[in-house]
Amino acid sequence: MMHVKFLDGQVKQLLIDGRHVPARSGRCFDSINPANGKLLAQVAQGAAEDIDLAVQAARRAFEGAWSTFNPYDRQMALLRLADLVDAHADELGALDTLDMGGPVAYAASRRQRAVAMLRYYAGQATTVHGQTIDNSQPGDIFTYTVKEPLGVVGAIIPWNGPLFMAIWKIAPALAAGCTVVLKPAEQAPLSSLRLGELCLEAGIPPGVVNVVPGFGAAGAALAEHPDVDKITFTGSTEVGQKIIRASAGNIKRVTVELGGKSPNIVFADADLDAAVPGAAMAIFANSGQVCSAGSRLFVERPIYDEFVEKVAAFANRLRVGDPMDPATQMGPVVSHEQLERVVGYLGVGREQGARLAAGGARISEGALAAGYFVRPTVFADVRDDMRIAREEIFGPVVAALPFDDIEDVVRRGNATTFGLGSGIWTRSIGNAHRVAKGLKAGSVWVNCYQQMDPAMPFGGYKMSGYGREGGAAHVEEFMNTKAVWIKTA
Ligand code: NAP
Ligand code: MG
Repeated sequence: MMHVKFLDGQVKQLLIDGRHVPARSGRCFDSINPANGKLLAQVAQGAAEDIDLAVQAARRAFEGAWSTFNPYDRQMALLRLADLVDAHADELGALDTLDMGGPVAYAASRRQRAVAMLRYYAGQATTVHGQTIDNSQPGDIFTYTVKEPLGVVGAIIPWNGPLFMAIWKIAPALAAGCTVVLKPAEQAPLSSLRLGELCLEAGIPPGVVNVVPGFGAAGAALAEHPDVDKITFTGSTEVGQKIIRASAGNIKRVTVELGGKSPNIVFADADLDAAVPGAAMAIFANSGQVCSAGSRLFVERPIYDEFVEKVAAFANRLRVGDPMDPATQMGPVVSHEQLERVVGYLGVGREQGARLAAGGARISEGALAAGYFVRPTVFADVRDDMRIAREEIFGPVVAALPFDDIEDVVRRGNATTFGLGSGIWTRSIGNAHRVAKGLKAGSVWVNCYQQMDPAMPFGGYKMSGYGREGGAAHVEEFMNTKAVWIKTA
């Protein structure tokens, strides 16, 4: 195994107020490498009392050291952090690969995304501001608005893109002038802890970014905490609903980026050489553990059989293996629990009458048997009412459904409680525009899939959540607007 300095055999402690501290309970939990089921590191298990200490530290930093940082100071701090993340990209990338199984083959693009994200938000620190506004009241009254940071932000993230998720929460919060308590997922806490250290090295004062790994109870304590001003959450719809309920206690702001069951629509006139790998990697990338994965593959009937056959052949050729091997295209799923969940859906698909065109099982022999590997799976002849076509599996499993015309596919594409991603493959600009207009989803990708850019907003319709991450408006979700009225005569 590659040597990663951070994995030194010591218990990885919480990071509160710039110090490594054990959990008050003294408890730890195991972080497991999903490629072989072995222990990677023991991690201090934060709970409500640790969250409370972290929130207190974040409040002191918000009112103290961090409040003396003007916009340019915050910009420079984020730029220094970007440089450090760039310089430590191999280490951070390896931590995520070991912790959750995302192939190292994609480390270069992950690095680019993380660094570009930090630099984008660094720019926002000096460009988001209030306005002077002409009012129409009698007398001379000068009116303007001021943008002020909300305060202490609780960031709760899942395990499917740990470093990127942490940065996507921390960077806009810091650009706005907020302080943060980050609760990473129990399955992949390591890169968040290392990122917290790099924040200190970048000159971000102690207490501005606190990292408290733990289980759901730690997340719940953060969501309920009366001195937290906002929760920014990515994860399951079920937990998102709990967080919204918990927010009522002190009317804290909430943004939630939740699950999906995204339609990926292939018309008969599409460039099939692009659409086949596009449709396959829309679901197999990151072992299908992507909230906006193209998990419902709608194919126009005249090319349905041929196209499904080609996607199945692509799935069978995909190199599944040790994610630390640069030749590997698909690694394991994140945990034993997730493995059981995905394998359960493979059974459900068969029982409800879908036809297996590729995959359909765990890899249970050879070198991969000790890890949580699932064969890339294509279910054909799927009906809209089958569970595999309705529920988020969050694994490398695609449901292929035939469609007849635009009205049919837009209606069925939207017949879900979710609305996160969507894809369209066609050479017809008319098809592209009509379907892009008709789909109720936060992102529409035409002749591509899963493109992301810091300047583009990302988020959900319907039960995929609300709030947008990325884009110029994101930082404002961490700010209050104050209206000031000054009678001048
Ligand atoms: P999850 O349970 O929603 O977990 C997301 C985060 O919320 C984790 O940090 C989790 O902590 C924390 N959490 C759990 N219970 C909480 C509570 N009551 N209050 C506050 N925070 C709480 O998601 P998961 O267990 O990782 O995955 C389950 C399913 O969610 C997946 O199979 C998939 O369908 C969906 N999912 C969606 C996304 C997405 O990007 N939209 C990402 C991941 C998962 P612990 O993990 O430490 O308990
Ligand atoms: Mg792990």
